[in-house]
Amino acid sequence: MDNSPRARNGGDTIAAIATPPGRGGIGIVRVSGPLVAQLAHAILGVLPQPRLALVRKFRDTRGQAIDHGVAIFFPRPASFTGEDVLELHGHGGPVVMDLLMARLIELGARAARPGEFSERAFVNGKLDLAQAEAVADLIESGSASAARAAMRSLQGEFSERIGKIAESLVALRVQVEAAIDFPEEEIDFLAEPALHEHCSSLQASLKELLEPARQGCLLREGMTVVLAGRPNAGKSSLLNALAQSDRAIVSPHPGTTRDVVREYMHLDGMPLHLLDTAGLRDSEDDVESEGIRRARAAIEQADRVLLIVDDAGAEGVELLQAYLPSHLPYTLLRNKIDLTGRAPGYVDTVPGETRQPTSSGAQIAVSAKTGAGLDVLRGHLKACMGFEVAGESTFSARRRHLDALARAAQALESAGAQLRQRNGELVAEELRLAQRALDEITGVFTSDELLGRIFASFCIGK
Ligand code: GDP
Repeated sequence: MDNSPRARNGGDTIAAIATPPGRGGIGIVRVSGPLVAQLAHAILGVLPQPRLALVRKFRDTRGQAIDHGVAIFFPRPASFTGEDVLELHGHGGPVVMDLLMARLIELGARAARPGEFSERAFVNGKLDLAQAEAVADLIESGSASAARAAMRSLQGEFSERIGKIAESLVALRVQVEAAIDFPEEEIDFLAEPALHEHCSSLQASLKELLEPARQGCLLREGMTVVLAGRPNAGKSSLLNALAQSDRAIVSPHPGTTRDVVREYMHLDGMPLHLLDTAGLRDSEDDVESEGIRRARAAIEQADRVLLIVDDAGAEGVELLQAYLPSHLPYTLLRNKIDLTGRAPGYVDTVPGETRQPTSSGAQIAVSAKTGAGLDVLRGHLKACMGFEVAGESTFSARRRHLDALARAAQALESAGAQLRQRNGELVAEELRLAQRALDEITGVFTSDELLGRIFASFCIGK
């Protein structure tokens, strides 16, 4: 049997408790599908007027009242799922809600799987995939900034920008495909400056989109920060001070941290994953070498590095920089200022000139021991996540969106290179790959298996 979201959608009627479990003033059961009118008649004795609240008793098989509440009917296609939808707003107690669910199931509805309402909305063209994901992100958002970003995605801002790029990409593909069809003119055509400009401008638009998408992803998933530095610089102490617990082992002997210690914390609702790494140095010890290997792997995955040095002996920064991938932004932390007497907070790199707080290479003076400067560090991390600056341009995005954007950018890059070689067939192929990557984001082209996985991660009743 074809169990894909597209194939399994429709036909039956689904029901779920849409409000969180537990007791509350109101509990809502949501029903979607072709049986809605029939179910309304059975439970309410009437089909409510479209989109008008109707106060009514909800009745069981024997006509006894289960609850007295409000019913709202949203006829298709102007409903969330695109199907007939009925909402029963009852009293929010688990028993009442369960009785209502049991009644609906007795009448032919089936309990909805997680995310099935959103899945139907997607299949029926009410939302594209990025918007459906934004519904989940809005519900799960851990901060006001993340909620605003999710709302912008839900309203289609992200999809719209992807759509515009995809449209321009299609136009370019049409031209390139046409050129291939006329081999005798192909070379001349591929030399057209307008074609090269078109390709470059696409690359630029994609790049512009990548930054707000990355910010959106950070807002949603949190930033992964690696604490790196020489043994004894104070990495474990700093992790503990930030996490306000004693997770990592602090020891005056170099090389104690032999594994990657992970700490998950919230900075005012912003998720932050902190990784403490083995001291970066060449080691003869097998266990420590393994720790260093893991540290390097963690660093590769990070969004930012906090490079920690002892303020008293900050030499070796260049050496440490050699361990960091060049694309990764880093912040230099001058630790142990309780011993050197340096003022806490941002440090001027050039006298009289403090770097942009979020730029790579910004320096902050702290003491993991006394806690001096940690408030500045927290503010800095929040700013790097776009927490304060999450303005009008950030929208919620997921890793999978970033991956797809990166693949599209890569393909466009190759397309540009092939274009310079006047290699029509290969240009066409790269452009096709770029379009496919973009289409994955909005769900135009997304495998059923991936769709299934995405919607399964939603909660029930959504
Ligand atoms: P790691 O090897 O980089 O993880 O360093 P640790 O966190 O284990 O710290 C090494 C030593 O430096 C320990 O004895 C800490 O107590 C000490 N230490 C760490 N941070 C500070 C600080 O801010 N001030 C002072 N005075 N000592 C510190």
